[in-house]
Amino acid sequence: MEFTNTTKVFTCIQCGKCTGGCPESGRTPLNVRLIVRKNQFGAQVKNSHLWYCTSCGTCTVRCPRDVKPSEVIFDMRSTLVESGDISTSIQKALENTFLQKNPWGRARSKRAEWAEKSGVAIKHISDTLEKRLLLSCCVHAYDPRCHVIPVNISKLLTYSGIEFGILGEEECCCGNEIRRIGEKGLFEELREENISNFNRYDVREILTLSPHCMNTLKKEYNLPKLKVYHYTQLLWDMIREGVVKIGKDYKKRVAYHDPCFLGKQNGIFEEPRYILKSIEGLELLEFSRSRENSLCCEGGGGRMFYEVEVQYERNAKIRVEEAYELGVQTIVVSCPFCLMTLEEQAVEKGIEVKDISEILVEVLE
Ligand code: SF4
Ligand code: SF4
Repeated sequence: MEFTNTTKVFTCIQCGKCTGGCPESGRTPLNVRLIVRKNQFGAQVKNSHLWYCTSCGTCTVRCPRDVKPSEVIFDMRSTLVESGDISTSIQKALENTFLQKNPWGRARSKRAEWAEKSGVAIKHISDTLEKRLLLSCCVHAYDPRCHVIPVNISKLLTYSGIEFGILGEEECCCGNEIRRIGEKGLFEELREENISNFNRYDVREILTLSPHCMNTLKKEYNLPKLKVYHYTQLLWDMIREGVVKIGKDYKKRVAYHDPCFLGKQNGIFEEPRYILKSIEGLELLEFSRSRENSLCCEGGGGRMFYEVEVQYERNAKIRVEEAYELGVQTIVVSCPFCLMTLEEQAVEKGIEVKDISEILVEVLE
């Protein structure tokens, strides 16, 4: 498959905008401008430096010369993957994904275990008329903390009479992280398996719960006839059209954390804010670094599976400090990576981290 993400290292003018916006620059050994420079001359880059990249996309969004510096890094990682020069934990995540279609190697038969917690009847996509597929994502499928998100969305859709179906144990990893780790062959296999499932069941639209899945399906799957969207977009439509009615207050000071793959990489900034602004009593505050400047949570780009060598203050900790300074009681997220990384840091500050669906379920009539 031809990716549109072809890099253009020779057009780089060394302006440094990439490094200037990189959330890892200065604190870790990652210097993306220098990596592009060395790439131009075929010079060596220390392998470990490449793994600090979180694939946040800031460098690629900011680059005035369309170099796509993040893609340069993924290409270089590919070479390492091909030669087997990768850490054991990355290797294991890739093997697991090959065998069980998820990076943790959890049984495929447990993929839809979350559905048992929903209390509503969830159909297989083949038994639906509208062919609207809810794609859960590996994190939601296997992390018990994140089960609540597909559970909430399933309940909201069912109570609102919006038909949907799932693939159950046929669902497999979307490959967004796998491609960014650099395993292009495995990404291609996952893509083919997913597309064959979409075709087999005549899927017409895909409701994604993770911005990472949405991103790759929209940009790297080449599915021009399929509508792919994120659940915050659907939830806002449901509120706007009166399909769901908010009946209770949420009297807290709240800040919304823009996920990189939803915000800066896909331009979805407003819908989550519209949802929060429609809730009585909720005071919506803004982080100083928000929207396209949002601080990356460092959960993406394979960082979930890579133990960094250099110890430094994590972005999630910095983010929670910012929230504390602002007087925020609840940090709201719409991505499972952000939920996990921020929540781990927020507990000791007495700040709660909630997925936006958790707030919505609390305030509905
Ligand atoms: S932003 Fe683009 S042009 Fe500027 S240094 Fe980085 S890669 Fe080169
Ligand atoms: S994708 Fe993000 S973390 Fe990676 S090099 Fe670019 S700005 Fe830095």
